[in-house]
Amino acid sequence: MKANWGQIVKKIEAATKDEVAILKSLLDTVNSKICPKCKECCCTDADVPSKGCSKSGGYYDSYYDSTPEELALIKYLKKKYEFTKKYGFLNPEKGCKLPRYLRSHTCLIYFCGKEKKLLRSTDVTMAIYLVNRIRAIKKQILTNV
Ligand code: SF4
Ligand code: SF4
Repeated sequence: MKANWGQIVKKIEAATKDEVAILKSLLDTVNSKICPKCKECCCTDADVPSKGCSKSGGYYDSYYDSTPEELALIKYLKKKYEFTKKYGFLNPEKGCKLPRYLRSHTCLIYFCGKEKKLLRSTDVTMAIYLVNRIRAIKKQILTNV
């Protein structure tokens, strides 16, 4: 049977909503202060393999996220969120087009030096814990596709 990716995405959203809400409360204040004027966008120059969102398929092509189901999900997301050859999922004016729960593990786990300076180390630890939980929840849903 062909997977219904619209429904699977809704399932991921519902299953990760608590983790995403806490992540938002931890990171949004810091991000809203430092990101608008940032000249070193994390999405184009991240300290992760194969630089750039467009070249790496939103970093879903990295070793963290490359099961057949994850690759099928990214195919769906590329179409739905209008992935471009130049910017990938990045809207240069507004930031990432993907909601947090649909970003790759690589994207979620990346904290730039400026974020790390402003966040308390306990917040970074909590954020990493939440990101890993989101990944585990997503993986579980995707293994049952
Ligand atoms: S998270 Fe860091 S690198 Fe990314 S846009 Fe914000 S300040 Fe810049
Ligand atoms: S998917 Fe989003 S967060 Fe990840 S590299 Fe692309 S624009 Fe940045």
